[in-house]
Amino acid sequence: EALREQLLGRIRDVPDYPQPGVVFKDITPLLADPDAFNALVDALAVLCARHGATKVAGLEARGFILAAPAAARAHLGFVPVRKAGKLPGATLSQRYELEYGSAEIEVQQDALAPGDRVLVIDDVLATGGTAEASLELIRRTGAEVAGVAVLLELGFLKGRERLSTALAGAPLDAL
Ligand code: 5GP
Repeated sequence: EALREQLLGRIRDVPDYPQPGVVFKDITPLLADPDAFNALVDALAVLCARHGATKVAGLEARGFILAAPAAARAHLGFVPVRKAGKLPGATLSQRYELEYGSAEIEVQQDALAPGDRVLVIDDVLATGGTAEASLELIRRTGAEVAGVAVLLELGFLKGRERLSTALAGAPLDAL
């Protein structure tokens, strides 16, 4: 409907970025448009309420740009899930496989606890590897997963299928 068109119309295809053969979805035109950005943040805040979230986790780095204002609008705390080595103090970390090699993400140990219900927000769901690792990480804190919300899902990469076990029935919304 209207929101979908407003958002999709402000995502730009950048061919051969970051490597030849890849078409990168660039969300910066959307972020630069105050009406579209505000509509996106509103829609994410609605999902926080609908899914009964008590915390919002953002995935570094573009996930931060969406998750932080959505958390504030929903009056919930924001929790950064960062690449390894960026968070001070005690952390939990989760390694995951990429097409070539592996990556590691972390959350602060005291950021989440049993009783929390966490909505995970990122900009783009591609293969689902990043989101999958974040769900495992969040569950290891004892917190519950309220769902995953992304701006854009690249359906042809089948991220939704990869995530289905880790979601364990929790909703995946792509705006
Ligand atoms: P995945 O782990 O699902 O394969 O990749 C998702 C992660 O890579 C997300 O954190 C997302 O920010 C980034 N990503 C992968 N492809 C794109 C893309 O085309 N556009 C944007 N903006 N981010 C992407």
